[in-house]
Formats: sequence, C-alpha cells, structure tokens
Amino acid sequence: MVGKAKNLILLGAPGAGKGTQAKRLAGDFNWVHLSTGDMLRGAIKRGTPLGARAESYVKKGDLVPDDLIIELVGERLQQPDCTEGFLLDGFPRTIHQARKLEELLPGLNIRLDAVIYIRVPDASIVERLSRRFTCSECGQMVTASDDVTVCPKCGGSLVRRPDDEPATISHRLSVYRTNTQPLIDLYAEKGLLFEIDGTGPVETVYKRIISRLDLDSEST
Ligand code: AMP
Repeated sequence: MVGKAKNLILLGAPGAGKGTQAKRLAGDFNWVHLSTGDMLRGAIKRGTPLGARAESYVKKGDLVPDDLIIELVGERLQQPDCTEGFLLDGFPRTIHQARKLEELLPGLNIRLDAVIYIRVPDASIVERLSRRFTCSECGQMVTASDDVTVCPKCGGSLVRRPDDEPATISHRLSVYRTNTQPLIDLYAEKGLLFEIDGTGPVETVYKRIISRLDLDSEST
C-alpha cells in the first residue's frame, strides 16, 4: 500500500489504457495529468521548435531523443500545479529517462510514490489500437465499432492518430518491448511497482487501481 500516493507513473504498452485511467484519476484526485505524447502532439500542432524536432519521430512511432523529452518533463514538473500531485503518462519510456527522472526529483523536492503498470495481453493491444479514434471536434477518445462511427459525446467525426495506423502499431509495440518493458523490472526492484490487470471495462480497471493502491479514502 502506498498511503497518500500522489506522484505516480503509469506504465504499460501503447493502448493499455494509461491515458484513459490517468484522465479519470487526475479528475477524481486533483492531480495533474502529464502525458508526454499529448505534450508533443500539442507542440507539433502549434508548430513550436520542439514540435518541429519531434514530429518525424512521433509520426513513425519512434521515440523522440531522450534529451528533448527530459527537458520537456523537467520544465513541466517545476510548474506550481505539480505540487498537488501528478500522473506521468508515457514517461519515462527508457531506462535512461528513468535514471534522469530519479536525478531530477530530489532537487524539486518530489518523491515518487508508485508506478502503476497496466498489463494487457499483446493480442488485445493490437485490437484496441486499431479501433482507437479521437473526436475531431471535442478530442474525446472513442473506441469505434459498427455501432459507434461518430463521437458519442458531440456527434463529431472520428479521426485516427497517424501513429495508430496498423503499419505503425506493430513498430510501436516493438519499440515498447525493447525500450520500455525493462522499466517494469527496474521499478519492481525499487518496490514501487503495482501491477494491474488492464483487461475488461474501463470502470473495472479503474476500480482495480483504486483498490490496489488503497486510494478509496482519498477521493475528493
Ligand atoms: P503516446 O501518446 O504516449 O503513445 O506517445 C506518442 C509518441 O510520442 C510516441 O510514439 C513517441 O514518438 C513520442 N513520445 C511520447 N513520450 C515519449 C517519451 N517519454 N520518450 C520518447 N518519445 C516519446
């Protein structure tokens, strides 16, 4: 049990549900949701210098260089809102990034409370990613099906993230296995890892996280 956990990392393959769970947890517990993927996509959309540097990597499903991402996260963690607690979603993704984070945190007076590893079998990951769309109007994540072809929230049209194209999905999974999977052992050795079964409905997975981290009594 982690007691009053508030500085958390969400670990898991692309499509494991990290972003969905992070949004929900951030909303319920007033923590900041720090998704490096969202930050990079935002920078690319705005055409910032960082976005320009990151664009070709993100498009291909490759990792952007460690120095760039570490700077991005380092700056963000210094913002005052992060003192209320944060959920890192999509960072760290390499052992080097994890080591750099470890060096960074004491200087910011931040302690890492837990790493939530959402585990989903490979077959479900490919299936999930190939059905994952975003609403072009409101940004809602939508799982498309025969019955769901427009955004259930606002009726907007659904677009697929360029890196969720089938050809890029298998590459992203192999990048994940090579670079990110080793972090599971790293955090397990530190006694920080909380493994969660990520199969089943979003609500069920959310309840598993709450109960496993003993967060029931901490909801606002
Ligand atoms: P995500 O939304 O987390 O799946 O991230 C989308 C893409 O952004 C990844 O495929 C990478 O190209 C890039 N990215 C996000 N986070 C990182 C990170 N921590 N290190 C390197 N690249 C990242």
